This record gives sequence, structure tokens and C-alpha cells, in this order.
Amino acid sequence: MNADVATDSVSVQQVMQWLALVPDPEIPVLSVVDLGIIREVSWDGATCVVTITPTYSGCPAMQEISAHVVDTLRQKGLASVRIQTRLSPAWTTDWLTPAGHAALKRYGIAPPKEKAIDISGLARGVHRAPVQCPRCGSDATRLVSQFGSTSCKALYRCSHCGEPFDYFKAH
Ligand SMILES: [Zn+2]
Repeated sequence: MNADVATDSVSVQQVMQWLALVPDPEIPVLSVVDLGIIREVSWDGATCVVTITPTYSGCPAMQEISAHVVDTLRQKGLASVRIQTRLSPAWTTDWLTPAGHAALKRYGIAPPKEKAIDISGLARGVHRAPVQCPRCGSDATRLVSQFGSTSCKALYRCSHCGEPFDYFKAH
């Protein structure tokens, strides 16, 4: 028996479940887990270390997210929490979870297309999969502006239902 027993009884999985309660400040329907920015949860003695990879600079919410993560875990009884950032590999929208994609759609934002499609070279610039309207599901959409409500989103309009919507840019 030692001083670490209390923290050892909290599993990484449990911490991840708590982290799923922390919303992304910009898109509150997404948790930081959905966003895919939580790289690792580990223990340094009695300190819970949460490793986060920030999203791209257009979404400068890291400080707010870090504070929220620390607050949430403290409320759950973890006395000591440390946030560590990992910049490499860089976060990509491919790290959004399937639950995150579904949440974005429900929120009226078209989820990012897989970056892998762009990387393949053969597809780059030549064949771009259409962005689907999150409201009616139509592929008949067009880009209105590279910048939507924030720089990490682009503004589209659906030709089918006529509604404008944000597209979470693949990155
Ligand atoms: Zn539509």
C-alpha cells in the first residue's frame, strides 16, 4: 500500500470518460475526445497527465480547453492534474471520431472529408468529393466563402434546400 493507491484505482478509461464531458469551446456539441485532441492520459505518481495536441492555429482555444480539463478532473476528485501539449504529429481533422462526425451533422455543420482522400495525389485537385448538406444530405452544394463563422470552417450553400451551412474544413 502506498500513496498512489487512490489514483491507481482510477483507470485511464475512466479519465477518458470524464474528458468526454469537456466540450470544445468553439463547437460545444463536440467533446475534446470527439475532437480527437486528447493524445494520452497517464500517471506521473499521483498526478494525472493529460497530453493534448492543439488544433490548428485558426482555432485558438487551447488555454480555455486546458483550464476546463483541469477543472473537470478536479471536480471528479483528481487532486493533481497536469496538461502537456504535443505538437507532433500535428492534429488533423481525420482524428475526429465517428461520434464527432455525427454530432457535427446534428449541429448543422458538414463534417470534414477524410484528409486521406486529398493526400493520395491522384485525387488532389482533380477529384474532390462533394461536401454533403448536413440538413438534407444533398451533394449539390457550392462553396460561398473559404471562411465561415470561424477560419477553420468554410461557408457553403446547398442548391437543393437553399440553406447555407458551415463545412468543417479537412486539415
Ligand atoms: Zn440541403
